Amino acid sequence: MHTVTISAIQQASPSVKIFRLDDARGAFRYLAGQWIDLYVNIDGKVEVGGYSMTSTPTNQGYLELAIKSSTRHPVTRWLHEHAQVGDSVTISDGQGTFFYQPNMSPRVVLVGAGVGVTPLISIFRYIAASVPQTDATLIYSIPSPDEFLFQTDIEKASQLPNIHHIVTLTQADDNWQGRTGRITADLFLSAGMSDDTLYYLCGPQGMVEDISAVLTSIAVPAERIIYEKWW
Ligand SMILES: Cc1cc2nc3c(=O)[nH]c(=O)nc-3n(C[C@H](O)[C@H](O)[C@H](O)COP(=O)(O)OP(=O)(O)OC[C@H]3O[C@@H](n4cnc5c(N)ncnc54)[C@H](O)[C@@H]3O)c2cc1C
Repeated sequence: MHTVTISAIQQASPSVKIFRLDDARGAFRYLAGQWIDLYVNIDGKVEVGGYSMTSTPTNQGYLELAIKSSTRHPVTRWLHEHAQVGDSVTISDGQGTFFYQPNMSPRVVLVGAGVGVTPLISIFRYIAASVPQTDATLIYSIPSPDEFLFQTDIEKASQLPNIHHIVTLTQADDNWQGRTGRITADLFLSAGMSDDTLYYLCGPQGMVEDISAVLTSIAVPAERIIYEKWW
């Protein structure tokens, strides 16, 4: 376990706050795409929530989380309504099999919807920062233009030759000039496909099931599809 300090809180969209946690001891470890257990003492009771890192492990000494508000979940609610810069929280090391390392494949397609983009942006940032030999495409579905998380970083990283992104808006909006509609087989085909591509999916349950069926329909083998389930 690690005690870390909240060093910044940013309202990143109407529903999502980004939390930066400083790890003064530098002992916290994770792989790009993993999640942590975060423990908070609320009214004398220790509560726990699971959250994916959005930062890349190549940035040492801190991590970042992006958390969508919820009044139901005690830790998520505490983070949104009570957490302040300077507060300490306890976290586990990075956990789970939803991660990317360079020896796994030279090509990844990262498919996310809404706040489900969090573990994908960690992998995206990691590859942009330190894996130039890997080709990464982020396919990101958002409900409205103001829920486009990490827009500046995504657009900047996409200037690199190995980094690409496709963002699609699911609900019509006059302020959006980009792509609209759901993620389809044509979208994967237009992004280019190869036999060694790994597909990472994270989003609401229905979206993960739909995308998985789309990938199967275009002959992507099950062992090349990696899911993150929050439910
Ligand atoms: C491994 C893991 C990693 C997580 N990482 C994050 C994170 O980085 N940021 C964050 O805000 N929450 C994350 N969560 C969810 C968080 O721990 C709480 O479950 C959530 O705050 C509860 O909100 P709710 O009760 O309003 O859920 P609801 O909004 O009712 O959602 C129901 C379930 O579906 C999941 N879900 C809903 N929308 C999405 C989506 N767009 N993509 C993926 N799953 C979805 C929810 O997490 C929840 O488990 C993660 C959960 C797990 C298990």
